[in-house]
Amino acid sequence: MRAVVIDAVRGRPTVRPVADPACPPGGVVVRVIATGMCRSDWHAWAGHDEIAFPHVPGHELAGVVVEVGDCVGRWKVGDRVTVPFVCGCGRCEWCLSGNAQVCPDQQQPGFTHWGSFAEHVALHSADTNLIALPESVDFATAAGLGCRFATAYRALVGRARVTEGEWVTVLGAGGVGLSTVMIARALGCRVVAVDRNPDALALAADLGASCVLLSDGSDVPAAVADLTGGGSHVAVDAVGSEQTCADAIHSLRRRGRHVQVGLLPPVDGHPRVPMDRVIGWELDVLGSHGMAAVDYPDMLALVEQGLLRPDQLIGRTIGLDEAAALLPTFDQATAAGITLVDPAR
Ligand SMILES: [Zn+2]
Ligand SMILES: [Zn+2]
Repeated sequence: MRAVVIDAVRGRPTVRPVADPACPPGGVVVRVIATGMCRSDWHAWAGHDEIAFPHVPGHELAGVVVEVGDCVGRWKVGDRVTVPFVCGCGRCEWCLSGNAQVCPDQQQPGFTHWGSFAEHVALHSADTNLIALPESVDFATAAGLGCRFATAYRALVGRARVTEGEWVTVLGAGGVGLSTVMIARALGCRVVAVDRNPDALALAADLGASCVLLSDGSDVPAAVADLTGGGSHVAVDAVGSEQTCADAIHSLRRRGRHVQVGLLPPVDGHPRVPMDRVIGWELDVLGSHGMAAVDYPDMLALVEQGLLRPDQLIGRTIGLDEAAALLPTFDQATAAGITLVDPAR
């Protein structure tokens, strides 16, 4: 099969023929029809994850089952599926309690093994992790669900437990940030979107943000306090930097909830977090790490009803060659919306 291959940390990704993945026991092989590119792929390329080289990145995928391993009960060749970026083992106490997103023995395609910037990808513990796609949900729409959209959904619903009428401030209007805007709006929240890219903010406004703030070195928390009458009920850092994390926390009103979604790898030491404010104002600081397959049906129902439109987040579709060229600069990507990769292109 053709795949985007990385041979070393920060090495130039190339597209070349590699061996098809073997089907793991309990798992499946999926023909990739659509796969999203996100900042996590860049983190892997940049050496922020434990990765064995050569490596194939890619973790946001949808496709068709082409091979089924031993001991798989729920899936057959031809099934249309997607998968969370965290695949649980299916056996531990966390998986059995519906929390595969924190499984200690988790597999992540594109990190723990070869991922979906390829024609085929192997997926583990299929009965635990695969999600059937309803007929009305196409592959491109589904590809964005497994990482950013589901993460945003869980951040708001499972972690922050937002309620109608609350203010939600979203730092970063990339894929996960725009997903957060759309979902918060659909849940009846009022949204402030913050980004340094005016085009991304325009998209956030189209998706229902009540207010947008250009973070051009201005005082973001003060502006949020003005817009929301004293601070946001919920803040989501969808970027993952010391600055955006601190801005998100300082944008909250007393007893507000912060959800950290953007990755903050400790490359320059652990980030400084304003814990004085967290204590004094009794803020909740919550982490959010994807969403288990068992929690997908509620979200997919909203997609099927048209209340959530992840397809509106897709900015462009590219082939494997363009994906290989784009990956090293993806942390500075300025294109608005989600970048999809079609391996057959
Ligand atoms: Zn992702
Ligand atoms: Zn597990």
